[in-house]
Amino acid sequence: MKVGIIRCMQTEDICPGTRCLRTAAAGIEGFEPVGPSEVIGIISCGGCPGKKAVARALDMVKRGAEAVVFSSCMTRGIPWQYRCPHAEQIRKSVEALTGGKTKIIDWTHA
Ligand code: SF4
Repeated sequence: MKVGIIRCMQTEDICPGTRCLRTAAAGIEGFEPVGPSEVIGIISCGGCPGKKAVARALDMVKRGAEAVVFSSCMTRGIPWQYRCPHAEQIRKSVEALTGGKTKIIDWTHA
């Protein structure tokens, strides 16, 4: 499946996304439901409070993403045990604006 990954801009400063990319390619952990995946884009939320994440997710769908993936730095607080306080709202907005037609994956790796 073709996927587009949204990640936390704060975590971007210290993480090159290696594990997200590895788990996507292998189709494991967060990607298990969709199998080995082609990452068509990986981009940050644009910074708090994450409104840009919605437009960025929609853009990745236009560019061929069949699923929007929220990385574990956003949704599980990895590696700092600091989950994004806006993650739920970002997800709801993306779901609403894609009409529920785009698959949403809400983590990448443990
Ligand atoms: S909105 Fe959430 S994901 Fe984006 S920088 Fe802030 S804490 Fe990170």
